[in-house]
Amino acid sequence: MNKMTIRIPFVDLKLQHQPIQTQLQQAIQIVLEQGDFILGQALSDFEAAFAATSGTEYGVGVASGTDAIALGLQACNIGAGDEVILPANTFIATLIGVLRAGAKPVLVDCDPQTALIDLEAAVRSITPQTKAIIPVHLYGQMVSPRQLLDFADTYKLLIFEDAAQAHLAQREGFHAGSVGIAAAFSFYPSKNLGAFGDGGMLLTRDSDVAQKMGRLRNYGASQKYFHTESGTNSRLDTMQAAVLHHKLPYLPQWNSDRLSIAQQYDMELAPLATAGIIPIQNQSGTGHVYHLYVIRVDDTCPTERQQLQEKLTAAGIQTGIHYPIPCHLQPAFNSLGYQQGDFPQAEKLSKQILSLPMYPGLSSSQVKEVVAAIADVVSTGSHSDPSPAVVGSIAA
Ligand SMILES: *Cc1c(COP(=O)(O)O)cnc(C)c1O
Repeated sequence: MNKMTIRIPFVDLKLQHQPIQTQLQQAIQIVLEQGDFILGQALSDFEAAFAATSGTEYGVGVASGTDAIALGLQACNIGAGDEVILPANTFIATLIGVLRAGAKPVLVDCDPQTALIDLEAAVRSITPQTKAIIPVHLYGQMVSPRQLLDFADTYKLLIFEDAAQAHLAQREGFHAGSVGIAAAFSFYPSKNLGAFGDGGMLLTRDSDVAQKMGRLRNYGASQKYFHTESGTNSRLDTMQAAVLHHKLPYLPQWNSDRLSIAQQYDMELAPLATAGIIPIQNQSGTGHVYHLYVIRVDDTCPTERQQLQEKLTAAGIQTGIHYPIPCHLQPAFNSLGYQQGDFPQAEKLSKQILSLPMYPGLSSSQVKEVVAAIADVVSTGSHSDPSPAVVGSIAA
């Protein structure tokens, strides 16, 4: 197949880096000169800065968001014999993190409007073994902190946030990462705050959790060559931390650019609601940081999701699907015993969702272009997809 010309990419990181390239190069240069590549000064500086900006105490940098979840749960003493509740519609790393910690994942369905975990379904999944819940602040929207804290308080459970898509998101006066006992972040390059490679961090206000996390990422060492427990090698590189620290001051502006773009999408897409194009609902106002802007192509739409995506691709507009297969239907996790039909909302969403281009620097005329292309497809669309010319020739 010919490679289509991309007119509007799904994400463009160059726009973010070019204006601050000199600064970023200087940040790297300083690390080169210091030579403290592992657990260096720039790492502790960034850990403190990111924790403070997120309204909490301690940050522990690790090699990825997945490690932040897996080691973070261990640092919170969640593991063998414990059940952990998480949504079925999340990135697979949430589930993998729970399994790596040795705990039993208990999946639950989501709210079809927000795509966030359904806390009533979570209540029904509690057993005497339940130790924690992982709210995933999906697409950049926080799960309601007030409802979470009520839930955790009522059932005596820990809250461990998956905030990999929600850097500096806010809701009800809380920052993402400051609600539960600890929170995992990812600095994968395309996340709202991204490194020049992989990276992650655990945030917590509990000094015991922070100290244990510090050991777990460093072979379980409490001091050099003295191992009080087993751990692994998972540290955020000093160089990555320096890059991230220099990007951090721009994050509020980047997030507010994302919010403006989302508000424009909301406004321009509104007339297409009657054609079955329904944006995922924002119930948290201006605290949503829109890692992704996701629409549902629902049953009333004359065009199927796949057809819409293909036609947008043909028009040079890249889109994504987050995520096409819910966790419980992934072949790798058959042994958990879930099956088709267990989480109807998550399953339905996986067939309807489409993520539109979203990144700081996406212009308002590009947003208009994306919406116009969608309008074009759904106004002429049909499930069977004959082009008018073909229909004409058959009829003739
Ligand atoms: C990106 C992501 C992760 C994993 O982070 P990595 O840095 O890629 O390991 C976990 N959970 C969610 C919701 C994510 O989006």
